[in-house]
Amino acid sequence: MIKGIGVSPGISIGRAFVLKKMEGKMNGRLLNNENEILQEIKHFDHAVELAANEIEAIKANSEILLNDEELAILETQIELINDPQIREDVLKKIWTEKVNANDALLQVFDVIAQLFENMDDEYMRARSSDMKDIANRILNHLNQADIELHHFDPNTIIIAEDLSPSDTITMDIRYITGFATQTGSKTSHTAIIAKSKGIPAIVNCGEKIHEIQDNDVIILDGTKGLLYVSPHESLLQEYRVLITDHQKQAGELKLLRDKAAITSDGTKIILSANISNAAELESMFGHGAEGVGLLRTEMLFMDREQFPDEDEQFEFYQAIAINAKGKPIIVRTIDIGGDKHLPYFNLPAELNPFLGYRAIRICLDRKDLFIIQLKAILRASAFGDLKIMFPMISNVTEIREAKKILEEAKFILTQQNISFKADIKVGIMIEIPSAAITADILAEEVSFFSIGTNDLCQYTLAVDRMNEKISHLYDPFNPGVLRLIKNVIDQGRKHHVHVGMCGEMASDPLATQLLMGMGLEEFSMSAASIPAVKKIVLSNSMEKAREICRSVMQMNSSTQIISYLEQTL
Ligand code: PEP
Ligand code: MG
Repeated sequence: MIKGIGVSPGISIGRAFVLKKMEGKMNGRLLNNENEILQEIKHFDHAVELAANEIEAIKANSEILLNDEELAILETQIELINDPQIREDVLKKIWTEKVNANDALLQVFDVIAQLFENMDDEYMRARSSDMKDIANRILNHLNQADIELHHFDPNTIIIAEDLSPSDTITMDIRYITGFATQTGSKTSHTAIIAKSKGIPAIVNCGEKIHEIQDNDVIILDGTKGLLYVSPHESLLQEYRVLITDHQKQAGELKLLRDKAAITSDGTKIILSANISNAAELESMFGHGAEGVGLLRTEMLFMDREQFPDEDEQFEFYQAIAINAKGKPIIVRTIDIGGDKHLPYFNLPAELNPFLGYRAIRICLDRKDLFIIQLKAILRASAFGDLKIMFPMISNVTEIREAKKILEEAKFILTQQNISFKADIKVGIMIEIPSAAITADILAEEVSFFSIGTNDLCQYTLAVDRMNEKISHLYDPFNPGVLRLIKNVIDQGRKHHVHVGMCGEMASDPLATQLLMGMGLEEFSMSAASIPAVKKIVLSNSMEKAREICRSVMQMNSSTQIISYLEQTL
């Protein structure tokens, strides 16, 4: 067994095809005179031109077959291959050191690939394989080698050191059922492409992968990141059963994915996803979400040494805006404090951090930081259907202040002639009891509410959501919590404010009909939870949901409510 990182889930059984790399080697040949140098430069330029044409041709021939990620990889490569700086560096080496084009190119690309490999950012590190890929393409033409075209037998599992973008794009993948590589990360091409094609894949398997021979029988478990080489029949049998189960589930899921969530009596319910970065959009679409009901932006601020600047933030939101393909995205402004800390932002130690300096409270206090995030979100709003949501709102003044800063951000961008969506919709999280109780007042200020039951529960019941000792008291079905939720939905509907829910309760099938009956319009949850909730929407009516709601609101304990809801399922 070899353990790696599972980057594309699923299981496959097949035979190994060990991909041997045609790496470029230095030949040490030196050029003798100016004539040879000029010839070598011509030779180099021609090879670059052929390599560039080749990538253009791959792109043109398979444009309709490629997804956005693959197209982006090819476009980046076309840009890099034509980079004048790279040509200048190669030519300088040829002129000054009199080395041949092959060696000059290898040296220049080695430096660039190293540069990428040493970057902190995982995504940028993974781009070093783009550089190696481009270098190999040019080298192939310089050395007039034919680019190998692979044809595979059915159920082939590709075993490689790493896969270059062009390997994965030009490969005839019809018969490939798995990828396993020695190196690589979650953002390497193998990962991106395998995931987008739904092929199980494992990266970072280490040196042991070299022990695998062509035609070895392999079990590849992309979900667990495990690779079994020449396994026993009993293990094969176990995995065959798992594959059948997976296929059945995937089939059911797929059928649901493209179905709109409409009740049996015709009411449409919006099911959207909670995400933290652009990579999760794939899972969002894969599970049939209709948009992003909550983009938690904290991830962008974590795992780093300083605040991301406006451009970096803009790129993060822009990538999501573009890749969401026109679907709505609710971007929640930073919600730090409480249990979420940033290593570089010295938040004071507090006796009650969940009741303390957090979320919108920090933003209104540190306008300098807040306005940067708002400007970045606004700039990205020119690329997709973004909405802005403020967390932890407890009163109307906070909304007015936040909106004032948003207007300042718009003013600055207008002055700078930078485009953004001027009428971007603004909403708030309802997660503090005072906000839930005064939903009628707050409704005057915003376009939408999103109920954050995770915090609403802890504040309503005075139960720390992190404290395991009292977790039995943490109960969204407590009549007190339910009354607050119902009030928010009633007031939202009365004031024509869209009401969604992005707390965990939205993903609980037990709560689905009750919330539908209250009139909740949008349920936002982790993508994987969507099919189960969708099943309930599809197989029930609004009439029944309203009846359930009426009954539940008469009940006096969550024990009674939960057992009643269990019966209704
Ligand atoms: C919530 O409080 O319900 C919520 C969705 O926000 P978070 O879990 O990020 O606090
Ligand atoms: Mg919250």
